[in-house]
Amino acid sequence: MAAQPSTRRRRYLPFSATPEPDTPQDFRIKGVVFDMDGTLVTPMTEFLAEMRDAVGVPPGQDILSYVHDLEEPDRSLAEGILVEIEQQALQEMKIQPGLPQLLKFLTDNQIPKAILTRNNVDSVNHMLENLFPDHQAGHPHHFAFDPILTRSFRPVKPDPAPLFHIAQQWNVQPHELMMVGDHGDDLNCGNNAGAVSVLLRDSVNERFVGIADHCVTSLDAIGDLLRDGFVLDPKQPPATKPTTGVAHS
Ligand SMILES: [Mg+2]
Repeated sequence: MAAQPSTRRRRYLPFSATPEPDTPQDFRIKGVVFDMDGTLVTPMTEFLAEMRDAVGVPPGQDILSYVHDLEEPDRSLAEGILVEIEQQALQEMKIQPGLPQLLKFLTDNQIPKAILTRNNVDSVNHMLENLFPDHQAGHPHHFAFDPILTRSFRPVKPDPAPLFHIAQQWNVQPHELMMVGDHGDDLNCGNNAGAVSVLLRDSVNERFVGIADHCVTSLDAIGDLLRDGFVLDPKQPPATKPTTGVAHS
């Protein structure tokens, strides 16, 4: 599936608007993909630093790529360390402010939701079971993330392959997706796929502001963006950096 070139102006219509059949430059967001750590849930920055130290990842190298390229038995040992630290992080995980409102908006407007994370599937399941009480109370529709892609889906972010996979599953085009995250990997993944990239901005990710199509400081602002519509000007030049640093997302 080819990405929509981001070299021309794109207008995303408000949800209430009726698309004009003869204006092919008009688009609509038909699905939202969420990063997990630092996006659906509060950041685990200190745990990422702990992971890098524990596994011995050289500065500037990506954690998952480094571990994936290790020889056995070092690889299995390192993977075990990552999972162990992720388990500790789960105990402190909190739902991101504004998320319930945004999920309700998306559900009310029949917009599908997916999770794209470099975390492991057990952590995702733990999050869903423990942080979304409505999910447990029998109202799964607000939290019906489908599909959920973890790091077992390779290549991982920032490669656009997982977004292409999600677009195909939802039968939409990549440029009809919105990718929401707190790290350059999320934004570059979205940009590389031709999707709309949205940075959930905080005190430690200012360096990624320049590569995001949109920045928000609270997730519920994304509902406003979708409701009101927006225009994207072409990226000059195509954004691919920065993506290194404390990368796990
Ligand atoms: Mg993240």
